[in-house]
Amino acid sequence: MRILVCGGAGYIGSHMVGYLTALEHEVVVYDNLSTGHRAAVGMVPMVVGDLLDPASLAALFMAHRFDAVMHFCARSLVGESVDDPYTYYQNNVVGTLNLLRAMHTAGIDKLVFSSTAAVYGAPQTGVIDETCPVEPINPYGASKLMVERMLADAAKAYGLRSVTLRYFNAAGADPSGEIGESHEPETHLIPNVLRAALCSDSVLKVFGGDYATRDGTCVRDYVHVSDLASAHMKAIEFMAGHDGAHLFNLGNGKGFTVLEVIGAARRVTGVNIAFELAPRRMGDPPVLVASSAKAHDLLCWTPAFTEVDAIIESAWRWHKQMRY
Ligand code: UDP
Repeated sequence: MRILVCGGAGYIGSHMVGYLTALEHEVVVYDNLSTGHRAAVGMVPMVVGDLLDPASLAALFMAHRFDAVMHFCARSLVGESVDDPYTYYQNNVVGTLNLLRAMHTAGIDKLVFSSTAAVYGAPQTGVIDETCPVEPINPYGASKLMVERMLADAAKAYGLRSVTLRYFNAAGADPSGEIGESHEPETHLIPNVLRAALCSDSVLKVFGGDYATRDGTCVRDYVHVSDLASAHMKAIEFMAGHDGAHLFNLGNGKGFTVLEVIGAARRVTGVNIAFELAPRRMGDPPVLVASSAKAHDLLCWTPAFTEVDAIIESAWRWHKQMRY
């Protein structure tokens, strides 16, 4: 297949590109390199452009024919979205609208869209399935939910086929150690824990120790980035037989507290990683754990990485010798 990967130079997108090229699909990456890395794409053709530039998108679709689009371009930091919501709505909502219009003009009717557990807000239930209410508590989650609504409307109006994948906490790195997670500044837990393991000057902060959880720190469901990639391929296969807009959670179904993640990283690295307790971070829900039963049943997706130690082990291999 010929697949356009928007945001293919980013963390999850670059793993997707590696997955697709290993299966010998034809891939073109479209990325503005605002947070992504050219080196993460290797030899795969890349057009440097922005979703906020409709002329650049039109030129892209004039130059190439695609069977489907995967859309990973987004601003994705909860705290930043609270401080600067306009940027989040501009990038994530307006940018996606531009992409959808360009796809419509070009006659491309299949999209896999990266959404997030943040659409659920601060759920009261233990394990979240797709029937849980969507009540985002930060602009990042709200921006993704707006796109989900656009996709439902586009299915009815234009016949756009789409699969929305609500990721829980993407983590880990390709087992080759060639690509991995590299953000500047880094805000995510596992990379920050591993940075603290590598450099004792880098002080790890644990945001909030007074949540109503088993040890007072937030619980998250960590899902390996290669498992996210395999789900996208299954989503493309699913759209061949299903029209309309569909959505699925992607997680492991197991939650780990921040302190449990630090404990696992200590086991994997052999370093007694130090941390200090800090105030809660704005916009953080206490617990987010997925039921992925729907993805399992309808996409036939089962994550290969189920243990947090194995996920951290793959991330550690990357962090020890980060290439970009
Ligand atoms: N966290 C932390 N210290 C850090 C980074 C994150 O305590 O340096 C916490 C954060 O408050 C949240 C959890 O780790 O409870 C996961 O945060 P992350 O940013 O990795 O993902 P998010 O759930 O925000 O998408």
